[in-house]
Amino acid sequence: MTQAAISDWKITDEAAGAPGYLTIDLKALGRNYDRLCALVAPARVAAIVKADAYGIGAEPVARTVYARGCRDFFVAQFNEAVLLRPALAGDARIFVLNGLQPGNEDVCARQNIVPVINSLEQWKLWSDTVRRLNRILPAVVQFDTGMSRLGIPPEEREAFAGEVAAERGIDILFVMSHLASADEPENLQNADQLAEFGKIAAQFPGIDFSFANSGGVGLGAAYHGLIARPGIALYGGAFTSAPLSMEPVVHLDVAVVQTRTVPAGARVGYSATHITREPRRLATIAAGYADGLPRSLSDKGAVYYDGIRLPIVGRVSMDSITIDISALPEGTLGLGSRVEVFGPHQTVEDVARDAGTISYEILTGLGQRYQRHCR
Ligand SMILES: *Cc1c(COP(=O)(O)O)cnc(C)c1O
Repeated sequence: MTQAAISDWKITDEAAGAPGYLTIDLKALGRNYDRLCALVAPARVAAIVKADAYGIGAEPVARTVYARGCRDFFVAQFNEAVLLRPALAGDARIFVLNGLQPGNEDVCARQNIVPVINSLEQWKLWSDTVRRLNRILPAVVQFDTGMSRLGIPPEEREAFAGEVAAERGIDILFVMSHLASADEPENLQNADQLAEFGKIAAQFPGIDFSFANSGGVGLGAAYHGLIARPGIALYGGAFTSAPLSMEPVVHLDVAVVQTRTVPAGARVGYSATHITREPRRLATIAAGYADGLPRSLSDKGAVYYDGIRLPIVGRVSMDSITIDISALPEGTLGLGSRVEVFGPHQTVEDVARDAGTISYEILTGLGQRYQRHCR
C-alpha cells in the first residue's frame, strides 16, 4: 500500500480482503511528540521518519508532527527524502542521515534536502557542488564519538576542521553524533560519548549540536543539545528504563480464517514442532512472517482475545499462524473474528521480546498486506 493510500484510507475491495487491521493512532503520536518537546525544552524535537516512519507511514506521521510545530525531519536514505519532500511545506527541513552519494548533489540542492556529512569524501562532494552551482548550501556534520558506524572519525577531526575553515560556501546548521547505548542509562559508554562530543563542540564554537535519540532524551539535559532526534519514542516504543513511557501508536488485529478441534496427538504446523497432549481447540489466523510476525515467534508468542492469552502453537507460516483457543468458551471465535496482536493487552515491545528482537525490527517489518487506517 502506498503512503498516499495510508493517509486517504478508504475501504476498497482490496482493503476489505486484508488479513489484518493496522490502526495508527495519530492523536497518540501527536501527544508523544508534545511530551518529548516538554521533556527536552528549550531544545527542539526533530522527528525521525526513516524507513517510512518505522513502518507506520512517513507521510501521515510527518504531517501530524508538522501540525504540532515540528520543522526538522530525518530520513536515512536520499530517496526517502525525495519521496517525503512534496508532503511537507517549504519551511520543513529534511535531513538525510546517510548523507550524499555521488550523483545526488544537485537534487539535494534543488529540493532543499540537507545532507548529513559523514566523511571528508562527502564534504568534498558538497563543497564541489557549492563551487559548481555558485550557491551557499546547508549541511549537518556528523562526528563519530564511539560507534564506528557513521561520522567523521576522531583521527580525521583535525583535517576536517581545516576543510571547514577554508570553506565559506557550506552553511553548517549544526553538528551531531549518535549514542550507541542510550537505552541503557547505566552504561558508561554514554558519558564517554558525551565527553568526546564536548571536545568536538569546543572545536566548533558557536555551532549548535544534536545528540540525543529517544534513549538520549531519557539521559537528561546534558544530552539534549539544540535538537533531539527521537524515533521509537514517538511511535510508542520503550526507550529507557526511566518512567517516561509514551502512548502506544500501533494497534494490530488479525482475522481468524478457520477453527478446529483436534484430538490428543495432533501435529500442528510445519515439521510438527507442536503435538497436542490432549484434545484442543485451535484457530488459524491470517498473518504470518510475510506480514512481519517473525518465525521466531513459533511455539513462543501469543495473541489476545478479550484479555485472554492465546498461545501460538507450531511454526509461524508465511501467511498464517495457528493459535490455541482452548481457554475461550467454545464458539467464541469463528471465521472473521479478530484477535489482538498489538493492543491493550500486548505491546509491540512484548511481541519483540518473545521474538528475540527489538520493537524497531517488528515495526519496520510489518509488511504491506494489512488494511491501514489512521485515527
Ligand atoms: C535512527 C536514529 C535515531 C532515532 O533513534 P531512536 O532510538 O529510534 O530514537 C536518531 N539518530 C540517528 C543518527 C539514527 O540513526
